[in-house]
Amino acid sequence: MNNKEVKRVLQDAERHCSENGAKLTAKRKLVLESLLDSDKALSAYELADYCRVECGSEMLPMSVYRMLDFLASEGLVHRLKTTNKFIACSHISCDHEHQAWQFLICQSCDKVEEVDLEKSIVSKITDAIHEVGFRIAGSQLELEGVCADCSAP
Ligand SMILES: [Zn+2]
Ligand SMILES: [Zn+2]
Ligand SMILES: [Zn+2]
Repeated sequence: MNNKEVKRVLQDAERHCSENGAKLTAKRKLVLESLLDSDKALSAYELADYCRVECGSEMLPMSVYRMLDFLASEGLVHRLKTTNKFIACSHISCDHEHQAWQFLICQSCDKVEEVDLEKSIVSKITDAIHEVGFRIAGSQLELEGVCADCSAP
């Protein structure tokens, strides 16, 4: 994502928060900006490092974690359960509603791609799961593999 795009997405994120009566403070914005800058998923520790190195802003991983919590509750970032890392939502500037989330995690370069799945596909999966008497918590799918860049010869 280039600078201009990042700026636009940050503006949309700000508007999104104020519509919900929340505030995207300067530090929360910085954390979101760092995630938008990176195409890899980052942990709270890596983000704290990133903010220190790139922006000279000292933040404890604990407070980065709290900011990530806020951003996740606003739907601006997603937490990957398999790796406990975070990525910026790739639909912040979209008007359409999120369907189910599927994340493709590259094991070779750590890049994460967010793909929208159709509701009908997801309900087929959940139906099959319910059939064996299992109840799933949430509808977030995470698949690990190798991305197009890394698998190119
Ligand atoms: Zn998203
Ligand atoms: Zn979208
Ligand atoms: Zn890769």
